[in-house]
Amino acid sequence: MRLVLLGPPGAGKGTQAARLVRKHGAPQLSTGDMLRAAVAAKTPLGLKAKALMDAGSLVPDDLVIGLIDERLNSPDCARGFILDGFPRTVAQAEALQELLDRRGLSLDAVLELAVDEGALVDRMRKRVDETLAAGGAVRADDNPESFKTRLEAYRAQTAPVSAHYAGRRQLTKIDGMAPIDEVTAAIDRALVDATVSRDE
Ligand code: AMP
Repeated sequence: MRLVLLGPPGAGKGTQAARLVRKHGAPQLSTGDMLRAAVAAKTPLGLKAKALMDAGSLVPDDLVIGLIDERLNSPDCARGFILDGFPRTVAQAEALQELLDRRGLSLDAVLELAVDEGALVDRMRKRVDETLAAGGAVRADDNPESFKTRLEAYRAQTAPVSAHYAGRRQLTKIDGMAPIDEVTAAIDRALVDATVSRDE
């Protein structure tokens, strides 16, 4: 199963990706997680990315494309992968196509979790409250100002990625406002449809 999950911050990509990992046994490739690990380890990449991430801006394409290129070589990706938070620009989508072509692979599906923008800030606040209640560390970019920048980055740079895949008839929209289990069920149905049409 080779899958891309698209959607704005707070759409539920991480939650659904974790479920897909359990179901399909393919790893979740989250560029956000990879970058946060690089920041925590203070690698040269992490040092370059930190200020941009904290502010809610995207990091340069070549950095994340390099991360994904390397990650796709890991043996666990032979079972497929669930891309969460990548591609986030049309240039990244084009680079992904090249990385896959080079390996003789293609995507099974591109799913977009569609949500009302008004709900996203509330979801972010809820995530912060839940994290604090569980004694966890809140993400540096989960604050109203950075979140606003993340939404603007989504609108300007990532929404065109949906249009890119829609133009190639690869995009399936899922109602991300539905309860979590219903979103999971809709994703399962979309993946069955994608597999059927691929095998036809
Ligand atoms: P996420 O965990 O997916 O919300 O990502 C957190 C932050 O990491 C984003 O706000 C960006 O600063 C950075 N980031 C993650 N993925 C990408 C990407 N594909 N392209 C550029 N920046 C990214």
